[in-house]
Amino acid sequence: MRAIRFAESLSYDAAYSEPHPGNGECVVRVHLAGICATDHHIVRGYMGFSGVLGHEMVGTVVEGSEAWIGKRVAGEINCVCRRCDLCQAGLSSHCRERTVMGIAGRDGCFADLVTLPERNLHEVPETISDEEAVFIEPLAAAYQVIQQVPIEPRTRIAVVGSGRLGLLIAQVLATTGCKLEVVGRNPKTLLFCEKKRIQSKSVDEVRLKNDRDVVVECTGSPKGMGIALAMVRPRGTVVLKSTYAGKGTGARRHEGTEGGEEGGGDGVDLAPMVVNEVTLLGSRCGPFSEAINALARRAVEVSSMVARVFPIERGLEAFEASADPANIKVLLKINPR
Ligand SMILES: [Zn+2]
Ligand SMILES: [Zn+2]
Repeated sequence: MRAIRFAESLSYDAAYSEPHPGNGECVVRVHLAGICATDHHIVRGYMGFSGVLGHEMVGTVVEGSEAWIGKRVAGEINCVCRRCDLCQAGLSSHCRERTVMGIAGRDGCFADLVTLPERNLHEVPETISDEEAVFIEPLAAAYQVIQQVPIEPRTRIAVVGSGRLGLLIAQVLATTGCKLEVVGRNPKTLLFCEKKRIQSKSVDEVRLKNDRDVVVECTGSPKGMGIALAMVRPRGTVVLKSTYAGKGTGARRHEGTEGGEEGGGDGVDLAPMVVNEVTLLGSRCGPFSEAINALARRAVEVSSMVARVFPIERGLEAFEASADPANIKVLLKINPR
């Protein structure tokens, strides 16, 4: 089968071996897949992963239990043991034995076929197109923020970072009616906010006055944390979505989030966190059901984020295109519906 794989370097393989489903697993024929920041970090050595990349997809089940065959699905990326202490404690996304699709110990979805445990699958309703469904995984990660932090209409909240994930988080936060502002660099993505009637500012113009109740940091750069700490109020909360996976941070084994610019988090001055008694909250994968509901009821709009779609054979070109900030989201077209 066709696949985009990473092993020291990124390559297109027209004859990668087809996957064999394990017990309780299904094979999904992938329609569309999304390239995200995490994929770029893996290519730079993050996670020490080798194999087929990709963890954002929509496809059709072609092998597995009768009940799933023919269904159009999106898939949760953490494949868990359900036996370890964390699984038993209801924290299965933190399973000690987990593999993660296209990120750790398991091939991903930039291929004709991918396997996933049946229990990871979510059927995609007909009202959601493939182009929208491919956003379910990152949108779920955006929903995780409001699962972790109570947000009310009077909550003053800033999203630092207007990349792919930042724009999804901003849209999710906007549904709560909170006092929201997005802080970013990319004029294209700030324009996207304006169209969605979400207040936004260039990072050079923003007030750093320690006056926000909550700041969500998703720049992927340690500098973003500095800005977040200058914006959050005393006793406020910073939600960290970036993974600064550089050398010397000891933070190489995280997955499923944006971020991870080279150079590490060593440069972040955390003193303001102590002085202002800030709560720091890490945030990774989130609830698929919330993301699917949001897309189905049109609470969040994602289609206009798609800048370019490449056939899988041109996957390397697609990777280059997705590194260009002018392209908010780049997709791989793998099989027709
Ligand atoms: Zn991702
Ligand atoms: Zn487990």
